[in-house]
Amino acid sequence: PRLANQIAAGEVVERPASVVKEILENSLDADARRLDIDIEEGGIKLIRVRDNGHGIDQEDLTLALSRHATSKILVLDDLEAVATLGFRGEALASIASVSRLTLSSQTEAQEHAWQVTTFGRDMETEVSPCSHPTGTTVEVRDLFFNTPARRKFLKTEKTEFTHIQEIIKRIALSRYDVTINLRHNGRQIYALKACSNAVEQERRMAMLCTPEFVDQSITIEAEASGLRLWGWVGLPTFNRSQADLQYFFVNGRSVRDRVVAHAVKQAYRDVLFHGRHPAYALYLELAPENVDVNVHPTKHEVRFRESRLVHDFLFSRLHRALADVSP
Ligand code: ADP
Ligand code: MG
Repeated sequence: PRLANQIAAGEVVERPASVVKEILENSLDADARRLDIDIEEGGIKLIRVRDNGHGIDQEDLTLALSRHATSKILVLDDLEAVATLGFRGEALASIASVSRLTLSSQTEAQEHAWQVTTFGRDMETEVSPCSHPTGTTVEVRDLFFNTPARRKFLKTEKTEFTHIQEIIKRIALSRYDVTINLRHNGRQIYALKACSNAVEQERRMAMLCTPEFVDQSITIEAEASGLRLWGWVGLPTFNRSQADLQYFFVNGRSVRDRVVAHAVKQAYRDVLFHGRHPAYALYLELAPENVDVNVHPTKHEVRFRESRLVHDFLFSRLHRALADVSP
């Protein structure tokens, strides 16, 4: 079974950042409102995430580490309107096959917490009691220790951590209601408290995307035909030489989409000088049945049911907002 898992792991576990992404999505699926993330050596030595979600029962602990053990899709209908972030049921199994993984968890109902560790070629597991508040801790040590070829492809600690930080940044930008603490090699990188109003959201935005961006952007808020758009749009004076501040979230998911990219680019066309990149953090919300988020397993792509409508809505609202503030 370990071999099959390792093959599957190739699809999910590209690098430490992909592990972090899968683990955090599981935490959010479990309704966590607090994430404590500890990373060591760019995630190669250690990735540890503690959440305060609903936890995993003792009986389900081992199951959670086996392939296709998802608890998340029950009927075909669910597939068509995936509300939760995960759906494949093999991320944990894949990660466990290429690392030393420990899962500790406690639910409201249990007398005490349980923990499971995987070891050995056949993914043997051992369940034992432990101490843990309601929620789950996933600890991944020595990533790719048993797949040297993959390990060789890892970049420097710094580069791998940059990828991790980017994943966490996207989550922090899409879930203002969640407290997020991030440490790297014991050093605090993020200490983000859950936001309860627009001022706190703006503070988080400034913290993650620089105060200059917040100062030199306009906020947008628009609604039409079942579509809602809000967020920050950088003014032409906010000059970024690189396309590194372009965030677009569809129903809370970070997305890179051609329809979206085109609409934004068109909207900026008249107001940006050649060579400049638009900066934005935008949120589009629409009914889940009008967008298919399962186009690709990495889940960066989406397919809109009415892409023309979405495109024109984005373009017209952004263009109008930018035209209002342009000289
Ligand atoms: P998927 O998320 O696609 O269902 P995973 O392999 O990522 O598959 O996780 C397997 C299962 O383990 C999940 O369906 C869930 O039941 C359980 N699980 C994993 N992480 C957590 C967590 N942090 N809190 C609660 N349950 C979890
Ligand atoms: Mg998952």
